[in-house]
Amino acid sequence: MIEAFNLLEKTFIDLKIQYDQKTLLKFETYMQLVLEWNQKVNLTSITNEKEFVIKHFVDSILCAELPALADAKSIIDIGTGAGFPGIPLALIYPETHFVLMDSVNKKLIIVKEILTKLELKNVSLIHGRAEDFGHQNQHRECYDICVSRAVARLQVLSEYCLPFVKKEGHFIAYKGRDVEQEIADSLKGIDILGGRIDKISPFNINDLGMGHQIIYIKKVSDTPEKYPRKAGTPQKDPL
Ligand code: SAM
Repeated sequence: MIEAFNLLEKTFIDLKIQYDQKTLLKFETYMQLVLEWNQKVNLTSITNEKEFVIKHFVDSILCAELPALADAKSIIDIGTGAGFPGIPLALIYPETHFVLMDSVNKKLIIVKEILTKLELKNVSLIHGRAEDFGHQNQHRECYDICVSRAVARLQVLSEYCLPFVKKEGHFIAYKGRDVEQEIADSLKGIDILGGRIDKISPFNINDLGMGHQIIYIKKVSDTPEKYPRKAGTPQKDPL
């Protein structure tokens, strides 16, 4: 196992995440599978293993600092791509049910194969757009937590994600370094959609070139029926 896995282990310990050798091996297998598939289908631009562990694995699990993560019964990941952050979280929370959604089926077919190889039974997949599924009774305001990374600006992402979250639940947005303007632009929309920014956590992992922020948005009231608007509208005409 490469050295960067020590950093993953350190993150587990720092965040009080329970793990064993089997968990670490599953992370390693997951990385190998994504890198193998990546030679045929473009899943990630990160091919260096150390960088992969840091930017995909450590980054994905940082939100475990929020106590609500360990208590969540259901978590949805919008725009999961090759499974980030959903699969790393599903590996550390085997008792939680995860739903991974993406609008590109080609990626989900690969994710399905990966889940089978990892023997991960707490994950289901949905092919579709957040704007459509956010109106379905079996998904709307049904999840304790919605996570999403690298999918859209916060202003747009809030309209994709907040409709899935139960009252008192959380929408967790993974963002880069400079988010002040993005946050300022999204405050009105978050309020309309029933959310309230609870906390912004900066994470700096020195010498690894990662300066990320996690934005925690609490669902404080129901999302009005008309949101999300039809597919494509949140992006064209952000709230
Ligand atoms: N979350 C992954 C990560 O951090 O590596 C993938 C990020 S990738 C840049 C963005 C993904 O979001 C793509 O796979 C895309 O198909 C998906 N996506 C974009 N808009 C979407 C929408 N409205 N509903 C569902 N998936 C969407």
